[in-house]
Amino acid sequence: MSTVRRPLKSLGQNFLMDNNVVDKIIRSAALEPGDSVLEIGPGRGALTEHLVRQVGRLLLVEYDHALADSLSCSYGDNQQVTVVDGDILAVDLDALLEGGGRSWKVIANLPYNISTQVLFRLMDVRRRVARMVLMLQKEVADRLVAQPDCSDYGVTTVLLGLWFDMRREFIVPPGCFHPRPKVDSAVVSFVPLAEPRVEVGNEQVFRRVVKGAFAMRRKTLSNCLKKTGLAAPDALAQVLNDCGINGQRRGETLSLDEFAALSRLLSALAV
Ligand code: SAM
Repeated sequence: MSTVRRPLKSLGQNFLMDNNVVDKIIRSAALEPGDSVLEIGPGRGALTEHLVRQVGRLLLVEYDHALADSLSCSYGDNQQVTVVDGDILAVDLDALLEGGGRSWKVIANLPYNISTQVLFRLMDVRRRVARMVLMLQKEVADRLVAQPDCSDYGVTTVLLGLWFDMRREFIVPPGCFHPRPKVDSAVVSFVPLAEPRVEVGNEQVFRRVVKGAFAMRRKTLSNCLKKTGLAAPDALAQVLNDCGINGQRRGETLSLDEFAALSRLLSALAV
């Protein structure tokens, strides 16, 4: 598929130009003939043209109307393919994926300006997903697979780590795209877990604890958690004590298990 229009920076359009990278992404998805696949931002179809030959059902969500039109022209007659001219952050993803059971695979070279938001949307529909293979900015990928007590470790590491096994598959240099992005990219695979990796009590409380703990990286955990409003200062001190966590630590030193322990006790208080 081709288009003469220049790529739109505002839509994060860095099109894949390297067939080896395309092949590696497709291989990482471990596709099977009956698979249902969601491709986010198919663009000019670098991945799409391979997917359409290999899977049972293909759902394409593209925000750029001209590219969505072009995809409809190419694949409109194909009963297996559905083109949605829409914003992945606004469409009712749960409804779109309904009927595929837990069998959806998600493949995308994501627009980098919205990649974290997309990750959280995908986390919300994880029960419908079997595997995701996503191209991200390398910096974002490094954060996802980071260990506690390093600068990359953060909100996305912990929140997504609760629900996914994540693996950085390979790095992709800027020269593989047109136009070239300023930074390296990386492909990450995600396998959703049937149950959270650890019990956290109320998940909304867990999210508030984690976001609160990282909101001010230079402040102590105790001060950060006070700002969340999840518990009065005395109760918070007791919770930290009951969890065996020193409130003078920085949030970034806590493991997922420690965040979960805090969340369980704070959830119980919130009842
Ligand atoms: N998959 C193509 C490739 O690998 O060459 C294009 C990838 S490009 C990095 C990102 C694509 O996402 C573009 O086609 C862009 O128009 C599309 N896009 C940007 N924002 C979007 C959104 N909110 N919802 C759906 N697609 C979006």
